[in-house]
Amino acid sequence: MPQLGFGVWQVPDDEAAKAVATALEAGYRSIDTAAIYENERGTGKAVAASGIAREELFVTTKLWNSEQGHDATLRAFDASLERLGLDYVDLYLIHWPVPAKDAYVDSYRAFEKILADGRAKAIGVSNFLPEHLRRLTDETSVVPAVNQIELHPQLAQAESRALHAELGVATEAWSPLGQGRGLLDVPALVAIARKHERTPAQVVLRWHLQLGNVVIPKSVTPSRIRENIEVFDFELDAEDIAAIAALDEGRRLGPDPAHFNMA
Ligand code: NAD
Repeated sequence: MPQLGFGVWQVPDDEAAKAVATALEAGYRSIDTAAIYENERGTGKAVAASGIAREELFVTTKLWNSEQGHDATLRAFDASLERLGLDYVDLYLIHWPVPAKDAYVDSYRAFEKILADGRAKAIGVSNFLPEHLRRLTDETSVVPAVNQIELHPQLAQAESRALHAELGVATEAWSPLGQGRGLLDVPALVAIARKHERTPAQVVLRWHLQLGNVVIPKSVTPSRIRENIEVFDFELDAEDIAAIAALDEGRRLGPDPAHFNMA
Protein backbone atom coordinates (compact mmCIF):
# COMPACT_ATOMS: atom_id res chain seq x y z
CA MET A 1 0.00 0.00 0.00
CA PRO A 2 1.34 3.49 -0.72
CA GLN A 3 2.68 5.01 2.48
CA LEU A 4 1.05 8.33 1.68
CA GLY A 5 -2.57 8.65 0.56
CA PHE A 6 -5.39 11.15 0.40
CA GLY A 7 -8.23 11.32 2.94
CA VAL A 8 -11.70 12.69 2.17
CA TRP A 9 -13.48 12.91 5.54
CA GLN A 10 -15.92 15.86 5.70
CA VAL A 11 -15.65 16.51 1.97
CA PRO A 12 -19.13 16.64 0.36
CA ASP A 13 -19.69 14.17 -2.49
CA ASP A 14 -19.42 16.63 -5.40
CA GLU A 15 -16.41 18.36 -3.89
CA ALA A 16 -14.80 14.95 -3.24
CA ALA A 17 -14.86 14.20 -6.97
CA LYS A 18 -12.91 17.43 -7.57
CA ALA A 19 -10.49 17.00 -4.68
CA VAL A 20 -9.74 13.36 -5.54
CA ALA A 21 -9.17 14.33 -9.19
CA THR A 22 -6.68 17.00 -8.05
CA ALA A 23 -4.97 14.49 -5.76
CA LEU A 24 -4.65 11.90 -8.52
CA GLU A 25 -3.20 14.55 -10.84
CA ALA A 26 -0.73 15.51 -8.12
CA GLY A 27 0.48 11.90 -7.93
CA TYR A 28 -1.47 10.37 -5.03
CA ARG A 29 -2.47 6.80 -5.79
CA SER A 30 -4.21 5.89 -2.52
CA ILE A 31 -7.59 7.28 -1.45
CA ASP A 32 -9.23 6.81 1.95
CA THR A 33 -13.03 7.09 2.11
CA ALA A 34 -15.78 5.49 4.23
CA ALA A 35 -19.48 4.74 3.91
CA ILE A 36 -20.26 7.31 6.62
CA TYR A 37 -18.41 10.07 4.71
CA GLU A 38 -21.16 9.87 2.04
CA ASN A 39 -18.63 10.55 -0.69
CA GLU A 40 -17.95 7.08 -2.08
CA ARG A 41 -19.80 8.04 -5.29
CA GLY A 42 -17.75 11.20 -5.83
CA THR A 43 -14.56 9.28 -5.05
CA GLY A 44 -15.51 6.54 -7.51
CA LYS A 45 -16.33 9.11 -10.21
CA ALA A 46 -12.91 10.73 -9.88
CA VAL A 47 -11.21 7.33 -10.00
CA ALA A 48 -13.14 6.34 -13.14
CA ALA A 49 -12.50 9.68 -14.86
CA SER A 50 -8.76 9.67 -14.05
CA GLY A 51 -7.88 7.13 -16.73
CA ILE A 52 -5.36 5.61 -14.30
CA ALA A 53 -5.22 1.81 -14.48
CA ARG A 54 -7.18 0.26 -11.62
CA GLU A 55 -4.23 -1.82 -10.45
CA GLU A 56 -2.18 1.34 -9.91
CA LEU A 57 -4.75 2.70 -7.47
CA PHE A 58 -5.35 1.81 -3.84
CA VAL A 59 -8.90 2.47 -2.64
CA THR A 60 -9.88 2.08 1.01
CA THR A 61 -13.40 2.25 2.41
CA LYS A 62 -14.91 1.44 5.80
CA LEU A 63 -17.86 -0.36 7.34
CA TRP A 64 -20.03 1.99 9.39
CA ASN A 65 -21.00 1.08 12.96
CA SER A 66 -24.73 0.62 12.30
CA GLU A 67 -23.95 -2.10 9.72
CA GLN A 68 -21.86 -4.28 12.02
CA GLY A 69 -22.84 -7.96 12.30
CA HIS A 70 -22.11 -10.76 9.82
CA ASP A 71 -24.94 -10.43 7.28
CA ALA A 72 -25.32 -6.66 7.60
CA THR A 73 -21.60 -6.34 6.84
CA LEU A 74 -21.93 -8.34 3.62
CA ARG A 75 -24.82 -6.11 2.52
CA ALA A 76 -22.98 -2.92 3.48
CA PHE A 77 -19.91 -4.01 1.52
CA ASP A 78 -22.01 -4.63 -1.63
CA ALA A 79 -23.52 -1.16 -1.26
CA SER A 80 -20.09 0.48 -0.88
CA LEU A 81 -18.75 -1.29 -3.98
CA GLU A 82 -21.82 -0.20 -5.91
CA ARG A 83 -21.42 3.46 -4.84
CA LEU A 84 -17.70 3.38 -5.67
CA GLY A 85 -18.43 1.77 -9.04
CA LEU A 86 -15.67 -0.78 -8.43
CA ASP A 87 -15.35 -4.59 -8.59
CA TYR A 88 -13.07 -4.67 -5.57
CA VAL A 89 -11.50 -2.41 -2.96
CA ASP A 90 -7.88 -2.61 -1.98
CA LEU A 91 -8.59 -2.32 1.73
CA TYR A 92 -11.81 -2.66 3.75
CA LEU A 93 -11.77 -1.50 7.38
CA ILE A 94 -14.09 -1.87 10.36
CA HIS A 95 -14.48 1.83 11.14
CA TRP A 96 -14.82 1.59 14.96
CA PRO A 97 -14.87 -1.34 17.39
CA VAL A 98 -18.17 -0.18 19.02
CA PRO A 99 -17.61 -2.18 22.21
CA ALA A 100 -21.23 -1.84 23.40
CA LYS A 101 -22.45 -3.63 20.28
CA ASP A 102 -19.94 -6.45 20.62
CA ALA A 103 -20.21 -7.35 16.93
CA TYR A 104 -16.75 -6.65 15.55
CA VAL A 105 -15.67 -10.30 15.61
CA ASP A 106 -18.77 -11.35 13.61
CA SER A 107 -18.25 -8.42 11.25
CA TYR A 108 -14.63 -9.43 10.74
CA ARG A 109 -15.67 -13.02 9.89
CA ALA A 110 -17.71 -11.48 7.04
CA PHE A 111 -14.57 -9.49 6.10
CA GLU A 112 -12.65 -12.78 5.87
CA LYS A 113 -15.26 -14.05 3.42
CA ILE A 114 -15.02 -10.86 1.33
CA LEU A 115 -11.23 -11.28 1.29
CA ALA A 116 -11.48 -14.94 0.25
CA ASP A 117 -13.82 -13.92 -2.59
CA GLY A 118 -11.21 -11.41 -3.80
CA ARG A 119 -13.57 -8.47 -3.45
CA ALA A 120 -11.22 -6.81 -0.96
CA LYS A 121 -7.51 -7.30 -1.54
CA ALA A 122 -6.83 -6.68 2.15
CA ILE A 123 -8.89 -6.28 5.32
CA GLY A 124 -8.24 -4.43 8.51
CA VAL A 125 -9.61 -2.30 11.31
CA SER A 126 -9.71 1.26 12.52
CA ASN A 127 -9.75 2.77 15.99
CA PHE A 128 -9.05 -0.60 17.60
CA LEU A 129 -7.46 -0.32 21.04
CA PRO A 130 -4.92 -3.00 22.00
CA GLU A 131 -7.62 -4.96 23.86
CA HIS A 132 -9.84 -5.09 20.74
CA LEU A 133 -6.96 -6.05 18.48
CA ARG A 134 -5.81 -8.83 20.79
CA ARG A 135 -9.30 -10.28 21.00
CA LEU A 136 -9.72 -10.12 17.22
CA THR A 137 -6.44 -11.87 16.51
CA ASP A 138 -7.25 -14.51 19.16
CA GLU A 139 -10.68 -15.28 17.68
CA THR A 140 -10.18 -14.95 13.92
CA SER A 141 -7.62 -16.26 11.44
CA VAL A 142 -6.53 -13.34 9.22
CA VAL A 143 -4.30 -10.78 10.94
CA PRO A 144 -5.65 -7.30 10.06
CA ALA A 145 -3.39 -5.68 7.47
CA VAL A 146 -3.90 -2.25 9.01
CA ASN A 147 -5.16 -0.47 12.12
CA GLN A 148 -6.06 3.10 11.18
CA ILE A 149 -5.90 5.20 14.35
CA GLU A 150 -5.74 8.84 15.38
CA LEU A 151 -2.03 9.63 15.40
CA HIS A 152 -0.08 12.87 15.19
CA PRO A 153 2.80 14.44 17.17
CA GLN A 154 0.47 15.29 20.09
CA LEU A 155 -0.88 11.72 20.20
CA ALA A 156 2.00 9.47 19.25
CA GLN A 157 0.29 6.18 20.25
CA ALA A 158 3.41 4.32 21.40
CA GLU A 159 1.48 1.39 22.90
CA SER A 160 -0.57 0.73 19.78
CA ARG A 161 2.44 1.10 17.50
CA ALA A 162 4.40 -1.44 19.55
CA LEU A 163 1.53 -3.92 19.45
CA HIS A 164 1.12 -3.43 15.70
CA ALA A 165 4.83 -4.17 15.22
CA GLU A 166 4.47 -7.32 17.33
CA LEU A 167 1.43 -8.55 15.38
CA GLY A 168 2.56 -7.46 11.91
CA VAL A 169 -0.20 -4.85 11.50
CA ALA A 170 0.57 -1.63 9.60
CA THR A 171 -0.10 1.59 11.54
CA GLU A 172 -2.12 4.08 9.52
CA ALA A 173 -2.44 7.58 10.97
CA TRP A 174 -5.73 9.45 10.72
CA SER A 175 -5.73 13.19 11.33
CA PRO A 176 -1.99 12.97 10.66
CA LEU A 177 -1.77 16.79 10.70
CA GLY A 178 -3.82 17.07 13.89
CA GLN A 179 -6.63 18.42 11.69
CA GLY A 180 -4.49 21.52 11.09
CA ARG A 181 -5.76 22.88 14.43
CA GLY A 182 -2.95 24.51 16.41
CA LEU A 183 -0.41 21.76 15.79
CA LEU A 184 1.06 23.40 12.69
CA ASP A 185 1.79 26.61 14.66
CA VAL A 186 3.77 24.87 17.41
CA PRO A 187 7.11 26.76 17.59
CA ALA A 188 9.25 23.59 17.61
CA LEU A 189 7.65 22.48 14.33
CA VAL A 190 7.90 25.92 12.78
CA ALA A 191 11.63 25.97 13.65
CA ILE A 192 12.25 22.54 12.10
CA ALA A 193 10.32 23.62 9.01
CA ARG A 194 12.50 26.72 8.66
CA LYS A 195 15.65 24.67 9.05
CA HIS A 196 14.65 22.39 6.14
CA GLU A 197 12.94 25.17 4.10
CA ARG A 198 9.69 23.21 4.26
CA THR A 199 6.27 23.85 5.78
CA PRO A 200 5.22 22.55 9.22
CA ALA A 201 2.71 20.24 7.47
CA GLN A 202 5.51 18.72 5.41
CA VAL A 203 7.64 18.24 8.53
CA VAL A 204 4.80 16.44 10.32
CA LEU A 205 4.13 14.18 7.33
CA ARG A 206 7.85 13.44 6.99
CA TRP A 207 7.96 12.52 10.71
CA HIS A 208 5.17 9.98 10.13
CA LEU A 209 6.93 8.49 7.11
CA GLN A 210 10.23 8.11 8.96
CA LEU A 211 8.41 6.42 11.86
CA GLY A 212 6.91 3.94 9.38
CA ASN A 213 3.31 5.17 9.61
CA VAL A 214 0.96 5.21 6.64
CA VAL A 215 -0.53 8.72 6.33
CA ILE A 216 -3.68 10.06 4.67
CA PRO A 217 -3.68 13.86 5.00
CA LYS A 218 -6.77 15.72 3.81
CA SER A 219 -7.09 19.04 2.05
CA VAL A 220 -9.45 20.45 -0.55
CA THR A 221 -7.01 23.24 -1.45
CA PRO A 222 -5.04 22.27 -4.58
CA SER A 223 -1.79 23.93 -3.43
CA ARG A 224 -1.93 22.08 -0.10
CA ILE A 225 -2.85 18.80 -1.79
CA ARG A 226 0.37 19.15 -3.78
CA GLU A 227 2.39 20.40 -0.81
CA ASN A 228 1.39 17.36 1.26
CA ILE A 229 2.83 14.85 -1.22
CA GLU A 230 6.14 16.70 -1.66
CA VAL A 231 7.71 14.98 1.32
CA PHE A 232 9.95 12.35 -0.23
CA ASP A 233 13.00 14.51 -0.96
CA PHE A 234 14.20 15.59 2.47
CA GLU A 235 15.00 13.92 5.75
CA LEU A 236 14.57 14.82 9.40
CA ASP A 237 17.60 14.17 11.60
CA ALA A 238 17.68 12.55 15.05
CA GLU A 239 17.47 15.95 16.76
CA ASP A 240 14.31 16.88 14.79
CA ILE A 241 12.71 13.51 15.59
CA ALA A 242 13.50 13.96 19.30
CA ALA A 243 12.03 17.48 19.32
CA ILE A 244 8.82 16.20 17.71
CA ALA A 245 8.64 13.25 20.12
CA ALA A 246 8.63 15.79 22.98
CA LEU A 247 5.28 17.17 21.71
CA ASP A 248 3.35 14.00 22.65
CA GLU A 249 0.64 14.87 25.18
CA GLY A 250 -1.51 11.79 24.69
CA ARG A 251 -4.28 14.19 23.67
CA ARG A 252 -7.09 12.96 21.41
CA LEU A 253 -8.93 15.27 19.02
CA GLY A 254 -11.49 12.58 18.22
CA PRO A 255 -13.53 10.20 20.37
CA ASP A 256 -12.05 7.55 22.66
CA PRO A 257 -12.73 4.18 20.97
CA ALA A 258 -13.38 2.59 24.38
CA HIS A 259 -16.57 4.63 24.70
CA PHE A 260 -17.56 5.55 21.14
CA ASN A 261 -20.71 3.56 20.48
CA MET A 262 -22.49 5.82 17.99
CA ALA A 263 -24.68 3.76 15.67
P1 NAD B 1 -5.74 16.03 8.84
O1 NAD B 1 -4.86 15.87 10.01
O2 NAD B 1 -5.38 15.43 7.54
O3 NAD B 1 -5.96 17.62 8.68
C1 NAD B 1 -6.71 18.14 7.64
C2 NAD B 1 -6.83 19.64 7.81
O4 NAD B 1 -5.55 20.22 7.99
C3 NAD B 1 -7.39 20.30 6.57
O5 NAD B 1 -8.79 20.33 6.61
C4 NAD B 1 -6.78 21.67 6.60
O6 NAD B 1 -7.51 22.51 7.47
C5 NAD B 1 -5.44 21.41 7.25
N1 NAD B 1 -4.34 21.23 6.27
C6 NAD B 1 -4.18 20.20 5.37
N2 NAD B 1 -3.04 20.36 4.67
C7 NAD B 1 -2.46 21.49 5.15
C8 NAD B 1 -1.28 22.17 4.82
N3 NAD B 1 -0.43 21.72 3.90
N4 NAD B 1 -1.00 23.31 5.50
C9 NAD B 1 -1.82 23.79 6.44
N5 NAD B 1 -2.96 23.19 6.79
C10 NAD B 1 -3.28 22.05 6.15
O7 NAD B 1 -7.20 15.63 9.35
P2 NAD B 1 -8.38 14.65 8.93
O8 NAD B 1 -9.05 15.07 7.69
O9 NAD B 1 -9.18 14.51 10.16
O10 NAD B 1 -7.66 13.24 8.70
C11 NAD B 1 -7.21 12.80 7.44
C12 NAD B 1 -8.01 11.63 6.96
O11 NAD B 1 -8.01 10.59 7.92
C13 NAD B 1 -9.50 11.93 6.77
O12 NAD B 1 -9.77 12.67 5.64
C14 NAD B 1 -10.05 10.52 6.73
O13 NAD B 1 -9.81 9.95 5.46
C15 NAD B 1 -9.22 9.85 7.80
N6 NAD B 1 -9.91 9.81 9.10
C16 NAD B 1 -10.29 8.61 9.59
C17 NAD B 1 -10.96 8.52 10.80
C18 NAD B 1 -11.35 7.18 11.33
O14 NAD B 1 -12.12 7.12 12.30
N7 NAD B 1 -10.87 6.10 10.77
C19 NAD B 1 -11.25 9.68 11.53
C20 NAD B 1 -10.84 10.91 11.02
C21 NAD B 1 -10.16 10.95 9.82
